[in-house]
Amino acid sequence: MQHWLAILFLLFNGFASAKQLALSFDDGLDPQIEVQAKQINHDILATLYQNQIKAILFPSLSKIGYEQGLALVSEWGQQGHRIGNHSDLHQNLNHDDVSLAAYLDSMQRGDSYFKPLQGFVPRYRFPFLKEGNTQQKRDGVRQWLAQHHYQSGAVSMDASDWYYNQLFMQYQTANDQVSLSKLKQAYIAHLLDRAAYYDCLAEKTLGRSPKHVLLLHVRAINAAWLGDVITAFRQQGWQFIDSDAAYQDPVYKIQLNVLPAGESILWQIAKVYGIDGLRYPAEDAPYEQENLRHFGLTVDK
Ligand SMILES: [Zn+2]
Repeated sequence: MQHWLAILFLLFNGFASAKQLALSFDDGLDPQIEVQAKQINHDILATLYQNQIKAILFPSLSKIGYEQGLALVSEWGQQGHRIGNHSDLHQNLNHDDVSLAAYLDSMQRGDSYFKPLQGFVPRYRFPFLKEGNTQQKRDGVRQWLAQHHYQSGAVSMDASDWYYNQLFMQYQTANDQVSLSKLKQAYIAHLLDRAAYYDCLAEKTLGRSPKHVLLLHVRAINAAWLGDVITAFRQQGWQFIDSDAAYQDPVYKIQLNVLPAGESILWQIAKVYGIDGLRYPAEDAPYEQENLRHFGLTVDK
């Protein structure tokens, strides 16, 4: 009897402590600019389907070329994924020359275009994860979101897949298979490292591992390697959950009083807690040089 209790306890404990994350993909692609747009979109969706993962897409109108890219965005909703709003113009709200009024217009246009799509949910993803460099802008956008019944579209795990994608495109153009093979290892290591880092920030501040949301982009690197990324995360004990389930975590209801506002929700909480060693911006290309060197890649800055 006691054996059974012990086993039950271990099982329950194992489930309770499983680290969980959802995948989110930003921007989308403009088929007029990216000739592979359709293929990239298709490959990412196929990988998600094979792995039975429901993700959330945050498209930006200017990034998808308006009507030109809307069909690719629609496919996400048709396949059971969620679609949020990532604005029209993809502006950095922390830039002085971006006014609150212009920014709200851009958010509104995104809302108008994406709202009719199957799978739309009122969640807003801030471009560059920048939520305002003044109180007027930060609180003005928060007010708009509340008035339009938006819920959080925050990330808990930030990463630089966009930068690894730049290198991926370079090596692919040069047909440099040796560098591509090294880059794949470096890319997977980078994402695992960021996941561990943000989970550690959560343990230090919340005292628990929340349901995470990882930031990725609809880019060629993920069309090629998303399946390998998913496998690597599962091997390290991560469990994939749907974006709806992830956003039920109360951590995404927290609104912090920091300026400039933005970055990962966990980064912001850590900032308020005064955790040492926080980088700003939290993620950027220069931070990746060491990881690339570790995997034998030399990159000109
Ligand atoms: Zn974006």
